[in-house]
Amino acid sequence: MLDLARALEQTASIINPCVKCHNLTSEAVCDICQNPDRDRLSICVVRDVSDLWALERTRAYRGLYHILGGVLSAIDGIGPDQLDLAGLKARIDEYGCTEVILALGATVDGQATSHYITEMLKDRGVSVSRLAQGVPVGGELDYMDDGTLITALRARGKMAGSS
Ligand SMILES: [Zn+2]
Repeated sequence: MLDLARALEQTASIINPCVKCHNLTSEAVCDICQNPDRDRLSICVVRDVSDLWALERTRAYRGLYHILGGVLSAIDGIGPDQLDLAGLKARIDEYGCTEVILALGATVDGQATSHYITEMLKDRGVSVSRLAQGVPVGGELDYMDDGTLITALRARGKMAGSS
């Protein structure tokens, strides 16, 4: 047990947040931010490190990330000053980003934060999108709640090959 405790202590002492995106790293800047193959024109905004890892697992996204450290919440007393929104704006300007993807979840607080960021970036000439919501892969319609079905219907996409 003591060996394990020492190993954990040692790991915790060398891991710190990336100075750019706040991902966990043992260096100043994380592997994703350092990787020259990542698309610097695209930034995906997430709530925390576990959301970044969930998206990385898909291997479907090749841009950069920005971890906010939370979402706006009246109940928890989290306002814009508690989130790293200034860092996000600075990086968009530094890289000349053309795309911001909001991946902040479908909760009320996540949606409110997405709207806030969209408004904040309105005059920056950057395309802002958010993850689609709707029917999960393998989902049957008769098991869906009304909110999910309504959102899926509104966010419907054209079938490839149709006119
Ligand atoms: Zn980073």
